[in-house]
Amino acid sequence: LVAFVLFLFFLVLPLGQALNAYTQLQTGLGALQRIEEVLDLPSETAGDSPAPAGPERDGEPAVVLENVSFGYPGGTEVLRDVSFTVPAGSRIALVGPSGAGKSTVLALIERFYEPTAGTIRVDGTDIRQLPRDALRRRLGYVEQEAPVLAGTLRDNLLLTAPGAGEQRLLAALEQVNLGALATRTPEGLDVQVGEGGVLLSGGERQRLAIARTLLADAPILLLDEPTSNLDARNEASLREAIAAASFRRTLIVVAHRLSTVVDSDLIVVLEAGRVVAVGPHEQLLETSPLYRELATHQLLVS
Ligand code: ATP
Repeated sequence: LVAFVLFLFFLVLPLGQALNAYTQLQTGLGALQRIEEVLDLPSETAGDSPAPAGPERDGEPAVVLENVSFGYPGGTEVLRDVSFTVPAGSRIALVGPSGAGKSTVLALIERFYEPTAGTIRVDGTDIRQLPRDALRRRLGYVEQEAPVLAGTLRDNLLLTAPGAGEQRLLAALEQVNLGALATRTPEGLDVQVGEGGVLLSGGERQRLAIARTLLADAPILLLDEPTSNLDARNEASLREAIAAASFRRTLIVVAHRLSTVVDSDLIVVLEAGRVVAVGPHEQLLETSPLYRELATHQLLVS
């Protein structure tokens, strides 16, 4: 289809315009691919066998990083010898100064990139041994600037739960405090959210992404909390959405809020790509000067 469309472009447009259109088409296709990845839609990339996720292994930690190092292609090393264990059902916060590598850790667990050294296990299995589809069924990922598709609320929710009924979609919205979006206009779930979700606030967009992830029902959730200051209502709603998301799930959150961190079972403190401390809040206040500094000055207080 792409080849046919390109053929038509070159046939009817002058060369300059055709090249311009080609560039836009490429950009659009790239964005589409990225959205598909982020929304955990099953990939059909060659080599990805559609094998089932395999049995969960009782007693295995949900996620283990063992001596993981990584640098982005062409860049310097951004993670060095990172190791930590996430027990199944626990809530873990990653904290550290900007650029410490927190989001990169999530990207590696999602297998957007391969570590240059070390191993990552999900439910006891090296993720290199898991087909991508199987890995994505285990992991839900909500990024900071969660993409929202032009279309309706329903379109956005059905992306991760095709065929889900009205009640299930409404329940997911309620869990993230977005129920009002579906009731305040006669269109209900068919209300438009605008190009890229422009009719929603930043906080609402991220909560919609959390609702999508809840519908996908992956047992392990990776969440990159927004850095921006939210107003008090959005802040409280985000906190409730995160609490709903962590119910009966394992949650690994890149945390920018003190409240998120304090509620976590374990906090991993990263500095310049290395783990410098691991522990619960009270303990780290005593033992980690960097954590004390972050908790008192850098983490948003609300
Ligand atoms: P923040 O709190 O500001 O989001 P972070 O701790 O999450 O920061 P990362 O986003 O993981 O940090 O970035 C770690 C390092 O990797 C930074 O130096 C960053 O500039 C670099 N980096 C991040 N993403 C990429 C990328 N896609 N390509 C190249 N370098 C990147």
